Order: sequence, then structure tokens, then C-alpha cells
Amino acid sequence: MSNVQSILAFNKEFVADKKYEAYVTDKFPQKKLAIVTCMDTRLIELLPKAMNLRNGDVKIIKNAGAIVSHPFGSVMRSVLVAIYELGAEEVMVIGHLGCGVASLNAERMINSMKEHGISRDVLNTIENSGIKLKDWLRGFNSEREGVIETVDIIKNHPLLPATVPVHGLVIESKTGELELVVDGTISD
Ligand code: ZN
Repeated sequence: MSNVQSILAFNKEFVADKKYEAYVTDKFPQKKLAIVTCMDTRLIELLPKAMNLRNGDVKIIKNAGAIVSHPFGSVMRSVLVAIYELGAEEVMVIGHLGCGVASLNAERMINSMKEHGISRDVLNTIENSGIKLKDWLRGFNSEREGVIETVDIIKNHPLLPATVPVHGLVIESKTGELELVVDGTISD
């Protein structure tokens, strides 16, 4: 059975058995917190459990590497929506050890694209339109550096209220142990 078929079969029972009842909540984050973190498979359940987060507690924005690659891209927009529309008052950027983006190799990825049938013409057209693929696909040197960079971009964003603290943390991908890398606490 394909993923989509087995998921749909499971889903029918999930709904019929009312298993959703344990998760009913609303769209406003109870802890008034927005988290930017990585899409890594090891963090799916580990990160919320290690932080004592339940359904409804926080907004979690995920991508490869927990990075804001453009100050007016979709991740930053999501952070701003969490703050202005959904009541978040605090932001945490949470990178993790062993992140695939730390070892991301733009050249290898471009080669893999070619192997998957993306033609040299397409790559050239993109490059000629001004998009530097190697810059766009680059990783970061270390997980901590990546977190510090992302915290900086969010904290210095012209649309972020000055009252919103932006913290940076790194989580260990197996034990869930957190390390505070940037304490964004605002003293009054
Ligand atoms: Zn990662």
C-alpha cells in the first residue's frame, strides 16, 4: 500500500474513533510563543516532548535548518503573523546538533538535480535570471552559528516589535537536551 493509501485508511478510523478529541484546541498559542525550528525527522515528537509542549501551546514554523533565508520570505512572514494575528509575544529559534543543513553541499545538490533530470538549460536560465543557486542552497558552518544568524535576522527585522524577545537554542537530536545560545530576555 502506498503512503497516501495507508494514511487515508488510518485516518478514517482516527476520525471515526474520535481520537482527535485529545487534541482539540484553538489557533492561538497558549504559551504566546513562536518557534522556528528544523524539519528534521528526529524532532517531530522529540522537540515538543523535551520542551513540555502540547497541542495548542505554540506556533511551530519549520524548514530545513531553522533559517530565515530572506527577511521578506515566508518564514519571517509566519513569525510576524504569529505575533500580530495570533498573539505570540516571544520567539525561539531552535537549531539542532547533526543538522543536515550544516553539511549541505550546494554543488552536490546541483549534481543530484541533474541526475534527477533537471537540464543544464534550466539551471543556466535560473542563474541568468540573477539567482545564485550556490548561495541559495548553501548551509551554515555550525548549528550554533546558524541559530545566531537567524536570531539576528529576526531580532533586527524592521517589522518586529521591540518588545518581543528572540532567543536562540540548540537541541541535541537524540537526548533532547537544550542549550541556550542566545538569551533574548529584554530587561526593563
Ligand atoms: Zn536540521
